[in-house]
Amino acid sequence: MTITYIVGNGIYVNLTNRCTNRCSFCIRNNGDGAYGSDSLWLEREPTVEEVLADFEKYDMSKYDEIVYCGYGEPTIRIDTLLETAKVLKEKYKKPIRINTNGQGSLINKRNIAPLFKHIIDTVSISLNAADAESYEKMCLPVYGKKAYEALIEFGRECVPYVKNVLFSVVRQTLSEDEISACEQIAKKAGVKLRIRELV
Ligand code: SF4
Repeated sequence: MTITYIVGNGIYVNLTNRCTNRCSFCIRNNGDGAYGSDSLWLEREPTVEEVLADFEKYDMSKYDEIVYCGYGEPTIRIDTLLETAKVLKEKYKKPIRINTNGQGSLINKRNIAPLFKHIIDTVSISLNAADAESYEKMCLPVYGKKAYEALIEFGRECVPYVKNVLFSVVRQTLSEDEISACEQIAKKAGVKLRIRELV
């Protein structure tokens, strides 16, 4: 099973296929492979030891970043994420990023942002929409409408502990007014807005 895979200069870690959203655009809905990797559907969730062992196959001098991403929401496995990230950080001294739906504190029923201090360099949160209603329609979160407010709050919570905190949106999925609203939301939360272009 594919525990890690390469995208560009990064090594991506696939901790879980579980997610609290069911986004209409999720790559999990679009066939088995992604980014040229083998199937990212896991037979079972990898242990800390299996994740660390998987890194042994790489010449780490060739890579610039380690990214917890998935085919699922990595903060669902917060303990495994942090335990592996801590060891990887010490061993390879590479920046570590988490790509997340921002629901980690809701999922873990506590503010998890302080746990990222000195371990995680970037938290990239998919904002996706300019308001809670549109987000709910697009992402079908199990938490309903409160998911959107919670992910904005999560961005705010991460700011004191993580160097780069980003909200990400895709330009082509939003109107200009919605992009402006997202800019305001990000500014108010003290988070950078990353506007991705569909290629
Ligand atoms: S949050 Fe990410 S993994 Fe979860 S359903 Fe949406 S796109 Fe897929």
